[in-house]
Amino acid sequence: MKICKSLDDLNDLRASLRKRRQTLGLVPTMGALHAGHISLVKAAKADGHAALATIFLNPTQFAAHEDLDAYPQTLEADLQALEDAGTAAAFVPEIPLMYPEGEATRVLVNGPSQNWESADRPHFFEGVATVVTKLLVAAQADAAYFGEKDYQQLQVIRRLATDLLIGTTIIGCPTVRADDGLALSSRNAYLSTQERAIAPQIYEGLIWLRDEILAGRDPETAKQVVKDRLLSAGFASLSYLAYVDAHSLEPLAAPAPQGSGRLLFAGTLGTTRLIDNIAV
Ligand code: AMP
Repeated sequence: MKICKSLDDLNDLRASLRKRRQTLGLVPTMGALHAGHISLVKAAKADGHAALATIFLNPTQFAAHEDLDAYPQTLEADLQALEDAGTAAAFVPEIPLMYPEGEATRVLVNGPSQNWESADRPHFFEGVATVVTKLLVAAQADAAYFGEKDYQQLQVIRRLATDLLIGTTIIGCPTVRADDGLALSSRNAYLSTQERAIAPQIYEGLIWLRDEILAGRDPETAKQVVKDRLLSAGFASLSYLAYVDAHSLEPLAAPAPQGSGRLLFAGTLGTTRLIDNIAV
């Protein structure tokens, strides 16, 4: 696996792929890789691309009080996992490359960035949109792979790629879960044994709520049942449990046709903020 640290390294990578008539699939990550990240590499390869994974812990998407300093960093193991998955190259830039001295540019996306994550994390999507734009421009890949695990983020990235005329096709990939249903996340490492045992109730609650909505029940009443269950199971607080249009992310007050809705969840267990979502 080739390790790229500079824009020149990326140019060399593209030149050598061009010679072999190979297309490029980009997989942006912040490291602390798990099977969810690796599924994106596999999806890129399954589509016939050479996979370029990026590992960059992006400071601009963390607020001062958030977990940037505590975020798990496991570079050696990450590179090994990428190599084992047959990744063609890893882009591992340092901060001065991604945010050059005097940097003064941010990417601001409206539309799908409104509400939900933005209510708790007002600068989050600006940081995500900025770094993802940089990575898309630097890599000039044919396609880029993102997880549905971060569903609102995926919609924001689709929007920015369209609006900024970025020629890379954005591909969303299904959420990879543990056997008990908990969505894999680098932040699951923060959970105590007791919290880890409670966490699968998120997915159980989402499945129950989806089935209630598809059976025609009032979404508000059914949501309240799930919220009460999660709070009594031990969640410290719930940020949102929303039934929304799958594309606009606008709230839906009544059951919509199957496949057109999405359930979005964020809540805090102990001190760990967890998010999840499913199709309705
Ligand atoms: P992160 O390192 O958390 O920024 O995630 C990098 C990419 O991996 C994003 O596109 C995430 O949506 C995706 N991802 C994270 N967890 C999962 C998962 N459990 N299943 C599928 N994709 C995931």
